[in-house]
Amino acid sequence: MRLVTVLGARPQFIKASVVSSELAKCAGVQEVVIHTGQHFDANMSDLFFAELGMSKPAHELGIHGGPHGEMTGRMLIGIERILADERPDIVLIYGDTNSTLAGALAAVKLHIPVAHVEAGLRSFNMRMPEEVNRIVTDRVSTWLFAPTGEAVTHLGREGVDPARIHQVGDVMYDVALHHGARAAGRANGAVRRLGLVEKGFALATVHRAENTDDPDRLEVIVDALAEVGRGLPLVWPLHPRTRAVLERVGLLSRLEQSVRLIEPQGYLDMLELEHSAVVIATDSGGVQKEAFFHRVPCVTLRDETEWMELVVGGWNTLAAPVSAKAVIEAIETAIGRQGSDITPYGNGDAAKRIAHHLSGVGIIT
Ligand code: UDP
Repeated sequence: MRLVTVLGARPQFIKASVVSSELAKCAGVQEVVIHTGQHFDANMSDLFFAELGMSKPAHELGIHGGPHGEMTGRMLIGIERILADERPDIVLIYGDTNSTLAGALAAVKLHIPVAHVEAGLRSFNMRMPEEVNRIVTDRVSTWLFAPTGEAVTHLGREGVDPARIHQVGDVMYDVALHHGARAAGRANGAVRRLGLVEKGFALATVHRAENTDDPDRLEVIVDALAEVGRGLPLVWPLHPRTRAVLERVGLLSRLEQSVRLIEPQGYLDMLELEHSAVVIATDSGGVQKEAFFHRVPCVTLRDETEWMELVVGGWNTLAAPVSAKAVIEAIETAIGRQGSDITPYGNGDAAKRIAHHLSGVGIIT
């Protein structure tokens, strides 16, 4: 069985690492990877392949930047050519990026069945490019691997045939379990290198277009995090897009006085920072969940989240960046808070279930 995986963004490298390693254990499965190039900096791409033990992709399209239509269109052209050549039995895609959408559309038009990992997530905000990508991708996919019960419910409401939906758990939980001890056991991890004290600092990440591309929201975030940073060390690994915008609008210097701005971190350093932080403020989907994996309270700098179970369970608070005062309050209130005892993300065997299913062994029950 020949399977082509299409990926291109940091969270996809992380998710694919565990699924690819499970697929490699399945007899008769041959996986070929296409990297679209959506994320291309060494510390957003190569580092993850190295740290997570992934092989170099067979195809690298080198496509990044530009408006959504142009980027997705160029990816479609490149992926279609490769699929026509490789003729796989299945195309495997992850999450909600333009690489996900391009992989799904290129495959389905060539009548190649698509498997979507992280199916069924919804923010119900169609202004988010990710929401459009998810909905279209789910609609054209044959296998919908849902991480949570809530994701299954969303798909059911949209009329998806239950036979296509498989609740397998969250592959990010698998990865965090797999690498957690490795991250903690290093002599010179990020916490030590940065001179931080265990549970003595806050961690922040911001990269969503709804925040970076809206000057008012971005300024609220900057003001709130700068203020939090005056009372508690605050570390912010800056996504390249966020750094570029902050530089362009002249907000970087306002932050530098009280916030520790650092380069994007490798996965192990990020896990360690999350584990050691006293609170996390983020607009990242993955980081919200990882905060919970470490039982660290989280404040989500958005109007809504796809991971509502964490809000309901008391682990996460939504703080839309419309008032700096409200964001500061949300972060200060979150410190020390623990939510209820929930297990929404499976048993850490999501990748194995996906690989078994796709390789024809059948889903583990
Ligand atoms: N991440 C990382 N280094 C960083 C910031 C994030 O390794 O400097 C990891 C993080 O631990 C999580 C994933 O990247 O596993 C989340 O990706 P991102 O926030 O880019 O995207 P999203 O999850 O919002 O789609």
